[in-house]
Amino acid sequence: MKPFTRRKFGKLAGAAATTIIGRGLWPGPALGRTTGKPKPKAVIIGGGASGATAARRLAEDFQGIDVTLIEANRQYTACFFASRYLGGIRTLADITHGYGNLAANHAVTVINAAATAIDGDKKAVILGNRTRIEYDRLIVAPGIDMKFDLIDGYDEKTTDLFPHAYKADTQISILKRQLEAMDDGGVFAISSPSRPYRCPPAPYERAAMAAFYLKKHKPRSKIQILDSKNEFPMSEVMNEVWGKLYPGMIEWIPAEFGGKIKAVDVKGKTLISSEERFTADVLNIIPDQHAGRIAQVSGLAGKNGWCPIHASTFESRLVPGIHVVGDAIDPGDMSKSAFSANSQARACAAAVGAALTGSKAVESPLTNTCFFMVAEDHGLKLGGTYKATPAGLTGLTGYLSQVGENVGTRKQTARDGDAWYAAVTKEMFS
Ligand SMILES: Cc1cc2nc3c(=O)[nH]c(=O)nc-3n(C[C@H](O)[C@H](O)[C@H](O)COP(=O)(O)OP(=O)(O)OC[C@H]3O[C@@H](n4cnc5c(N)ncnc54)[C@H](O)[C@@H]3O)c2cc1C
Repeated sequence: MKPFTRRKFGKLAGAAATTIIGRGLWPGPALGRTTGKPKPKAVIIGGGASGATAARRLAEDFQGIDVTLIEANRQYTACFFASRYLGGIRTLADITHGYGNLAANHAVTVINAAATAIDGDKKAVILGNRTRIEYDRLIVAPGIDMKFDLIDGYDEKTTDLFPHAYKADTQISILKRQLEAMDDGGVFAISSPSRPYRCPPAPYERAAMAAFYLKKHKPRSKIQILDSKNEFPMSEVMNEVWGKLYPGMIEWIPAEFGGKIKAVDVKGKTLISSEERFTADVLNIIPDQHAGRIAQVSGLAGKNGWCPIHASTFESRLVPGIHVVGDAIDPGDMSKSAFSANSQARACAAAVGAALTGSKAVESPLTNTCFFMVAEDHGLKLGGTYKATPAGLTGLTGYLSQVGENVGTRKQTARDGDAWYAAVTKEMFS
């Protein structure tokens, strides 16, 4: 399935691209059941880490609600754990998930189509073929889109050549094929974006997993990280790992030393900053980001490109009655991660379910742990706990892997990461 992009938005709008996958059997009574009236309708746009979780929780925890999930793609390729696929530790099948089970096993109607607009006054989502899907409460969970106007010579077409591999689509397979086709002694360049962006440590985990693959198959190759920043998360522990496991392979060039890319010479495969030119064999440009397009066009995103929300309910601060979850929100102290998205979606579903059924909202804990793999059996983690306050999602505690941890600790972190992935994807897609 091709990625859902700004360029394709117009095409989708013209095409009748709607497919209803199916609807699960109606289960027995549960929390917040409504009787005698039409069921209240919850509609979710986006079936990723946050949207699929919200659909599952609403369907399972509030069985008196009609739940519809609108997702542009037929399959979800998880960005989380995609670096393991790049490194050869996981297969593409391991990180690819369909929506059949969510529809068959739960009371969720899954519509395979792109939402192109939201009519907030009349409470309806408009699909590419102009079908209107009415809702009582809407959850918008579109993830991110790329900013295409900040690097000269770079646009959506260029992403076919230099895949960002930063959305839930098949670009990671293109990047992997390019790495596999690269000669031994080649250069793999990753340009890392400015904050805020999806999963801040991910470009550096990606460098480690690429190094893991190259060390085995093309050991004379090099990786250059051209950074828009002068810092990166987990840098101490990441530098320790790079130095010990991949000595001399990974070079990090911060913005102050010319790492911030301003232009790309597509034919010359060269990234250009104000100080230097970097020619590489494989280019992975990860551009700056903002909330997914549907959030931009429906007035949910603020001036900074992200969606401001009331932290206790995830209801938009800009459009009442519409909730936003996952990477599209202005997350306060919370990281943009699948773990956060899953945790936020549970809290959001609890609030939406309570609002629709008149039941009391059950407080749901807000937590995040990002697990990163930097070699086989070598895991790192970063996380925290959070609280909804009037100011936003406020951090309470935080933790991260430490420099000098022993092999057993790193192995255990890798195993904990595997267990988390299995559990969270089961909740989203089974
Ligand atoms: C390389 C990489 C590594 C990562 N590693 C980790 C990790 O180890 N741990 C971790 O916790 N997180 C990790 N993440 C982050 C994680 O992938 C995201 O934070 C998470 O997917 C966010 O969930 P989301 O629901 O907001 O967006 P997504 O999961 O991207 O889902 C959005 C969905 O909405 C759909 N959509 C968008 N617009 C529309 C529309 N108009 N109509 C219909 N459907 C629409 C999209 O097709 C997509 O399926 C990583 C990310 C990357 C890029």
